Amino acid sequence: MTRKFFVGGNWKMNGDKKSLGELIQTMNGAKVDPNVEVVCGAPTIYLDFVRSKLDAKFGVAAQNCYKVPKGAFTGEISPAMIKDCGVNWVILGHSERRHVFGESDELIGQKTAHALENGLGVIACIGEKLDEREGGITEKVVFAQTKVIADNVKDWSKVVLAYEPVWAIGTGKTASPQQSLLRTHHNVCIKFMYSYFIIFLYFLLMNLFFVSGSVTGGTCKELASQKDVDGFLVGGASLKPEFIEIMNAKA
Ligand code: PGA
Repeated sequence: MTRKFFVGGNWKMNGDKKSLGELIQTMNGAKVDPNVEVVCGAPTIYLDFVRSKLDAKFGVAAQNCYKVPKGAFTGEISPAMIKDCGVNWVILGHSERRHVFGESDELIGQKTAHALENGLGVIACIGEKLDEREGGITEKVVFAQTKVIADNVKDWSKVVLAYEPVWAIGTGKTASPQQSLLRTHHNVCIKFMYSYFIIFLYFLLMNLFFVSGSVTGGTCKELASQKDVDGFLVGGASLKPEFIEIMNAKA
Protein backbone atom coordinates (compact mmCIF):
# COMPACT_ATOMS: atom_id res chain seq x y z
CA MET A 1 0.00 0.00 0.00
CA THR A 2 1.38 3.39 -0.87
CA ARG A 3 0.14 6.36 0.98
CA LYS A 4 1.06 10.00 0.99
CA PHE A 5 3.39 11.32 3.66
CA PHE A 6 1.00 12.49 6.37
CA VAL A 7 1.42 15.62 8.49
CA GLY A 8 -1.10 16.19 11.26
CA GLY A 9 -1.24 19.39 13.26
CA ASN A 10 -2.70 19.15 16.74
CA TRP A 11 -3.71 22.60 17.92
CA LYS A 12 -5.01 21.20 21.23
CA MET A 13 -6.81 23.80 23.41
CA ASN A 14 -4.99 26.74 21.86
CA GLY A 15 -5.81 29.78 19.78
CA ASP A 16 -8.81 31.94 19.14
CA LYS A 17 -10.54 33.09 15.96
CA LYS A 18 -7.99 35.86 15.51
CA SER A 19 -4.81 33.81 15.94
CA LEU A 20 -6.13 30.73 14.16
CA GLY A 21 -7.44 32.97 11.37
CA GLU A 22 -3.92 34.38 10.92
CA LEU A 23 -2.37 30.92 10.92
CA ILE A 24 -4.94 29.76 8.36
CA GLN A 25 -4.14 32.73 6.14
CA THR A 26 -0.43 31.83 6.23
CA MET A 27 -1.23 28.18 5.47
CA ASN A 28 -3.59 29.02 2.62
CA GLY A 29 -0.93 31.17 0.98
CA ALA A 30 1.85 28.59 1.37
CA LYS A 31 3.24 26.33 -1.30
CA VAL A 32 2.72 22.77 -0.09
CA ASP A 33 4.24 19.58 -1.47
CA PRO A 34 1.34 17.93 -3.37
CA ASN A 35 2.57 14.51 -2.22
CA VAL A 36 1.79 15.30 1.40
CA GLU A 37 -1.56 15.01 3.16
CA VAL A 38 -1.99 17.70 5.81
CA VAL A 39 -4.72 17.54 8.46
CA CYS A 40 -5.20 20.07 11.27
CA GLY A 41 -6.78 19.09 14.59
CA ALA A 42 -8.87 22.08 15.64
CA PRO A 43 -10.64 22.72 18.95
CA THR A 44 -14.23 21.46 18.75
CA ILE A 45 -15.80 24.88 19.03
CA TYR A 46 -13.81 26.11 16.03
CA LEU A 47 -14.31 23.12 13.72
CA ASP A 48 -16.88 24.94 11.59
CA PHE A 49 -14.85 28.14 11.56
CA VAL A 50 -11.61 26.38 10.62
CA ARG A 51 -13.25 24.23 7.94
CA SER A 52 -14.86 27.28 6.35
CA LYS A 53 -11.60 29.29 6.25
CA LEU A 54 -8.95 26.67 5.56
CA ASP A 55 -8.15 25.88 1.93
CA ALA A 56 -9.66 22.59 0.73
CA LYS A 57 -6.17 21.20 0.10
CA PHE A 58 -5.89 20.81 3.88
CA GLY A 59 -7.95 18.36 5.92
CA VAL A 60 -9.42 19.15 9.33
CA ALA A 61 -9.71 16.81 12.32
CA ALA A 62 -11.64 16.91 15.55
CA GLN A 63 -9.49 16.14 18.59
CA ASN A 64 -11.92 13.64 20.10
CA CYS A 65 -15.39 12.13 19.70
CA TYR A 66 -17.64 9.75 21.62
CA LYS A 67 -18.45 6.08 20.96
CA VAL A 68 -22.21 6.35 20.27
CA PRO A 69 -24.29 8.42 17.81
CA LYS A 70 -26.27 10.59 20.24
CA GLY A 71 -27.84 10.84 23.67
CA ALA A 72 -27.40 12.16 27.18
CA PHE A 73 -23.62 12.62 27.15
CA THR A 74 -23.05 16.20 28.21
CA GLY A 75 -19.99 17.74 26.66
CA GLU A 76 -19.40 15.01 24.09
CA ILE A 77 -19.61 15.16 20.30
CA SER A 78 -20.42 12.40 17.80
CA PRO A 79 -18.70 11.49 14.53
CA ALA A 80 -21.94 12.46 12.73
CA MET A 81 -21.70 15.99 14.18
CA ILE A 82 -18.08 16.22 13.08
CA LYS A 83 -19.05 15.20 9.57
CA ASP A 84 -21.92 17.69 9.63
CA CYS A 85 -19.27 20.43 9.96
CA GLY A 86 -17.56 19.17 6.80
CA VAL A 87 -14.74 17.63 8.84
CA ASN A 88 -13.47 14.18 7.88
CA TRP A 89 -10.92 13.20 10.51
CA VAL A 90 -10.68 12.66 14.25
CA ILE A 91 -7.67 12.26 16.54
CA LEU A 92 -8.30 9.44 19.05
CA GLY A 93 -6.28 8.12 21.97
CA HIS A 94 -4.02 11.13 22.26
CA SER A 95 -1.86 10.76 25.37
CA GLU A 96 -3.57 13.76 26.94
CA ARG A 97 -6.92 12.00 26.53
CA ARG A 98 -5.41 8.82 27.97
CA HIS A 99 -3.50 10.33 30.89
CA VAL A 100 -5.20 13.63 31.75
CA PHE A 101 -8.77 12.46 31.13
CA GLY A 102 -8.27 8.79 31.99
CA GLU A 103 -9.43 7.21 28.73
CA SER A 104 -8.81 3.47 28.64
CA ASP A 105 -7.50 1.39 25.73
CA GLU A 106 -10.98 -0.18 25.56
CA LEU A 107 -12.80 3.15 25.24
CA ILE A 108 -10.37 4.30 22.57
CA GLY A 109 -11.04 1.08 20.68
CA GLN A 110 -14.81 1.65 20.87
CA LYS A 111 -14.45 5.23 19.69
CA THR A 112 -12.23 4.09 16.82
CA ALA A 113 -14.83 1.57 15.66
CA HIS A 114 -17.66 4.08 15.85
CA ALA A 115 -15.73 6.87 14.10
CA LEU A 116 -14.75 4.52 11.26
CA GLU A 117 -18.31 3.18 10.91
CA ASN A 118 -19.43 6.77 10.44
CA GLY A 119 -16.92 7.49 7.72
CA LEU A 120 -14.29 9.49 9.61
CA GLY A 121 -10.59 8.92 9.11
CA VAL A 122 -8.88 8.19 12.44
CA ILE A 123 -5.49 9.40 13.63
CA ALA A 124 -4.98 6.83 16.39
CA CYS A 125 -2.30 7.69 18.94
CA ILE A 126 -0.16 5.24 20.87
CA GLY A 127 2.90 5.67 23.04
CA GLU A 128 4.54 4.87 26.34
CA LYS A 129 5.09 7.08 29.41
CA LEU A 130 8.56 7.73 30.79
CA ASP A 131 8.17 5.33 33.73
CA GLU A 132 6.99 2.63 31.32
CA ARG A 133 10.03 3.17 29.10
CA GLU A 134 12.35 3.15 32.12
CA GLY A 135 10.61 0.04 33.44
CA GLY A 136 11.37 -1.76 30.17
CA ILE A 137 7.73 -2.23 29.18
CA THR A 138 7.56 0.14 26.20
CA GLU A 139 6.76 -2.55 23.68
CA LYS A 140 4.25 -4.28 25.95
CA VAL A 141 2.33 -1.00 26.45
CA VAL A 142 2.47 0.10 22.82
CA PHE A 143 1.52 -3.38 21.63
CA ALA A 144 -1.51 -3.50 23.95
CA GLN A 145 -2.66 -0.05 22.76
CA THR A 146 -2.15 -0.99 19.11
CA LYS A 147 -3.92 -4.34 19.51
CA VAL A 148 -7.12 -2.77 20.87
CA ILE A 149 -7.13 -0.34 17.96
CA ALA A 150 -6.40 -3.13 15.45
CA ASP A 151 -9.24 -5.23 16.90
CA ASN A 152 -11.63 -2.40 16.05
CA VAL A 153 -10.46 -1.63 12.52
CA LYS A 154 -11.89 -3.33 9.45
CA ASP A 155 -10.63 -0.88 6.83
CA TRP A 156 -7.07 0.31 7.43
CA SER A 157 -7.20 2.74 4.52
CA LYS A 158 -8.80 5.33 6.82
CA VAL A 159 -6.44 4.89 9.77
CA VAL A 160 -3.05 6.31 10.55
CA LEU A 161 -1.17 5.34 13.70
CA ALA A 162 0.77 8.06 15.47
CA TYR A 163 3.50 6.71 17.68
CA GLU A 164 4.09 9.44 20.21
CA PRO A 165 6.18 8.60 23.24
CA VAL A 166 4.52 10.56 26.04
CA TRP A 167 7.90 11.76 27.35
CA ALA A 168 8.54 13.43 23.99
CA ILE A 169 5.31 15.43 23.88
CA GLY A 170 5.70 19.12 24.55
CA THR A 171 9.08 18.55 26.20
CA GLY A 172 11.44 19.40 23.37
CA LYS A 173 12.78 15.81 23.52
CA THR A 174 12.12 14.22 20.16
CA ALA A 175 12.51 10.46 20.23
CA SER A 176 15.78 9.78 18.48
CA PRO A 177 15.08 7.84 15.31
CA GLN A 178 17.83 5.31 15.84
CA GLN A 179 17.52 4.57 19.53
CA SER A 180 13.92 4.36 20.37
CA LEU A 181 11.44 5.35 17.82
CA LEU A 182 12.11 2.99 14.99
CA ARG A 183 13.03 0.19 17.35
CA THR A 184 9.70 0.43 19.15
CA HIS A 185 7.91 0.65 15.85
CA HIS A 186 9.75 -2.35 14.47
CA ASN A 187 9.39 -4.47 17.60
CA VAL A 188 5.68 -3.79 17.94
CA CYS A 189 5.18 -4.81 14.33
CA ILE A 190 7.21 -7.99 14.84
CA LYS A 191 5.14 -8.83 17.93
CA PHE A 192 2.04 -8.49 15.79
CA MET A 193 3.48 -10.85 13.28
CA TYR A 194 4.26 -13.50 15.91
CA SER A 195 0.97 -13.01 17.71
CA TYR A 196 -1.23 -13.34 14.71
CA PHE A 197 0.96 -15.03 12.15
CA ILE A 198 -0.32 -12.40 9.79
CA ILE A 199 2.63 -11.17 7.86
CA PHE A 200 0.31 -8.91 5.91
CA LEU A 201 -0.56 -6.99 9.06
CA TYR A 202 3.12 -6.55 9.80
CA PHE A 203 3.70 -4.85 6.49
CA LEU A 204 0.49 -2.93 6.79
CA LEU A 205 1.44 -1.52 10.16
CA MET A 206 4.88 -0.66 8.91
CA ASN A 207 3.15 1.54 6.38
CA LEU A 208 0.94 3.30 8.84
CA PHE A 209 3.25 4.56 11.49
CA PHE A 210 4.14 8.13 11.92
CA VAL A 211 5.86 9.94 14.69
CA SER A 212 5.16 12.60 17.14
CA GLY A 213 6.58 14.47 20.06
CA SER A 214 8.30 17.82 19.75
CA VAL A 215 8.75 17.65 15.97
CA THR A 216 9.96 21.05 14.77
CA GLY A 217 11.15 22.78 11.65
CA GLY A 218 14.66 21.92 12.84
CA THR A 219 14.15 18.16 13.29
CA CYS A 220 11.58 17.36 10.62
CA LYS A 221 13.90 16.74 7.68
CA GLU A 222 16.08 14.18 9.46
CA LEU A 223 13.03 12.38 10.82
CA ALA A 224 11.24 12.42 7.48
CA SER A 225 14.24 10.84 5.80
CA GLN A 226 14.05 7.73 8.05
CA LYS A 227 12.78 4.59 6.44
CA ASP A 228 9.40 3.66 7.98
CA VAL A 229 8.55 7.17 9.14
CA ASP A 230 5.46 8.02 7.15
CA GLY A 231 4.49 11.30 8.73
CA PHE A 232 4.25 13.45 11.82
CA LEU A 233 1.74 14.58 14.41
CA VAL A 234 2.86 18.03 15.45
CA GLY A 235 1.64 19.93 18.50
CA GLY A 236 3.35 23.18 19.47
CA ALA A 237 5.05 23.81 16.14
CA SER A 238 1.77 23.38 14.23
CA LEU A 239 0.59 26.70 15.66
CA LYS A 240 3.55 28.55 14.18
CA PRO A 241 4.59 29.45 10.64
CA GLU A 242 7.29 26.72 10.85
CA PHE A 243 4.43 24.25 10.35
CA ILE A 244 4.80 25.04 6.62
CA GLU A 245 8.42 23.87 6.75
CA ILE A 246 7.30 20.65 8.46
CA MET A 247 4.66 20.01 5.79
CA ASN A 248 7.40 20.26 3.20
CA ALA A 249 9.91 18.10 5.10
CA LYS A 250 9.99 15.51 2.32
CA ALA A 251 10.21 18.00 -0.55
P1 PGA B 1 4.29 18.45 20.58
O1 PGA B 1 2.90 17.68 20.68
O2 PGA B 1 4.69 18.48 19.13
O3 PGA B 1 4.01 19.82 21.14
O4 PGA B 1 5.28 17.70 21.40
C1 PGA B 1 2.66 16.55 19.90
C2 PGA B 1 1.31 15.99 20.23
O5 PGA B 1 0.84 16.13 21.35
O6 PGA B 1 0.67 15.37 19.37
